[in-house]
Amino acid sequence: MRRAVCPGSFDPVTKGHIDIFERASAMFDELIISVFHNPGKDKAAFSMEERVEMLREATAHIPNVRVTGFSGLLNEFCRQEEAPFIVRGLRAFTDFEYEFQRALLMKKIDQSIETVFIMTNAEYSFISSSGVRELATFGGKLSDLVPECVEKHVREHAFKKFEDGMEKVQ
Ligand code: ADP
Repeated sequence: MRRAVCPGSFDPVTKGHIDIFERASAMFDELIISVFHNPGKDKAAFSMEERVEMLREATAHIPNVRVTGFSGLLNEFCRQEEAPFIVRGLRAFTDFEYEFQRALLMKKIDQSIETVFIMTNAEYSFISSSGVRELATFGGKLSDLVPECVEKHVREHAFKKFEDGMEKVQ
């Protein structure tokens, strides 16, 4: 069985991510989407459980996908799951530099793991989780950026953040 891991912060999952999942799921027998903590990023806006729940809802239409959370080393997760492929999406040059370093580091750690890149769909190339969070804070339109089931969670989260901020001001 050809099994691949698609790791990421998914804070929250966007239409850009979903497009990568749909295309990757056609290339492998099973695609394991795994929420990882990225130490290079600030504390996540959504908890691990919330991100896993949003991913499960948003990928319910893809039959060979499994969603899980993991805290630890990606290569160990791949070994544990018997998945020798890592799938990552690529948007612009800025993604390339970062992804290139990560893929080389992974190869150094474990020769048996291959990182596979899928180029973004032009329609989604401008979408990022941080952009979604920012737009939600100011009540912007999210329907082009995230699946409908995710929009609800993001709006609730932004509203709660707003309320917490108001309490601090009062
Ligand atoms: P990480 O913190 O691991 O970079 P992200 O959730 O930001 O996690 O991204 C996960 C993967 O999805 C990365 O490979 C990223 O480049 C890719 N990705 C993010 N947004 C898009 C998009 N709009 N189109 C294609 N790939 C994307």
